[in-house]
Amino acid sequence: MRTNDGKRALEKGAGGERLNAEEAHALVQVLSPDHLHALGAAAFKNRCNRYGLKATYIFNQHINPSNVCSLACAFCNYGAASDAPHAYSLDEAEILESVATLEPSEVHIVGGINDIWTFERSLQLIQSLRERFPDLFIKAFTAVEVAAFARSSRQSIADVLAALTAAGMNAMPGGGAEIFAARLRAKYWRNKISAHEWLEIHQQAHAMGITTNATMLFGIGDRWDERVAHMLTLRECQARSGGFECFIPLPFQPGGGNISTAGPSVAEILAVLALARLILDNIPHLKAYWPMAGLETAAAGLSWGADDMDGTIKEEKVAHMAGARTPIGLARRKMEETISLGGFEAVERDGWFKRQQQANGR
Ligand code: SF4
Repeated sequence: MRTNDGKRALEKGAGGERLNAEEAHALVQVLSPDHLHALGAAAFKNRCNRYGLKATYIFNQHINPSNVCSLACAFCNYGAASDAPHAYSLDEAEILESVATLEPSEVHIVGGINDIWTFERSLQLIQSLRERFPDLFIKAFTAVEVAAFARSSRQSIADVLAALTAAGMNAMPGGGAEIFAARLRAKYWRNKISAHEWLEIHQQAHAMGITTNATMLFGIGDRWDERVAHMLTLRECQARSGGFECFIPLPFQPGGGNISTAGPSVAEILAVLALARLILDNIPHLKAYWPMAGLETAAAGLSWGADDMDGTIKEEKVAHMAGARTPIGLARRKMEETISLGGFEAVERDGWFKRQQQANGR
């Protein structure tokens, strides 16, 4: 593959044309410092054709019911053995109280794999949230958790998803995909569901009308061709089932778990966003996830293809226990100032990615 192939792919991607697999892989040829600006410019042009200079965020809250986890992924500092000093478990009453206090428009619920928050208890949490907060958008449980619920309750994936939806769940987050490269799974998260199972669960959800997100962990010893392959796999899956709303690249947090790598550089984080914007033409939104990228880098990512900054988040634990040094939450004003600094128009959205009416009390 020559640099000229990469340049041609950039031109196609900038104009919003579908890149075939060979062209997507050719983009790796324009990742050198000599071409980095052209890559960013192509992604920016593509993004502006879709969304102009609007950049969305949501007033949301993360709920992490317990960090007790039996899977022991090597990169994770969040999951804990049940007797570890930093193990914790919230109860339903305190979760409901915190939602009542913060009044978010969306909650994002993920936690460890354990027998404390059983399927029945988790289902009850969704039901209680729905009853008490009828308008709340509830995004809950990764494919890894859904698979564990199915196993422990001896139900099918479809039955688990149907029960969660009936209780009031609106959508599923995209965590647990990590990176699909089998060699890294075997090394760092062999106890977790396989890439195939992750994709199957998301396709099942899409078939039932449940929208989901998709993630990619990177900066953990993965190669550029593996990142491109991950994105192409998601694109194929989306072509079949159509329910991915947003793609979220997650930079590995240096110092997380038992892995000694510096994590991705800022240029690498921006380049991954740009590649995603150019390759994933059938997934509507691309998120610059500030708790893991850093607030400034995520904001810069809006000029590298991203159109969403996630949210104010409030009580996030997963990235922060993994070593993220970003703030635990942001005020609306700080989020809007950060977005505006790059010349973008900050737009608050709801869980369906629809623009919100001006929120109360701002
Ligand atoms: S990444 Fe998730 S599944 Fe793996 S150990 Fe951490 S909490 Fe558990």
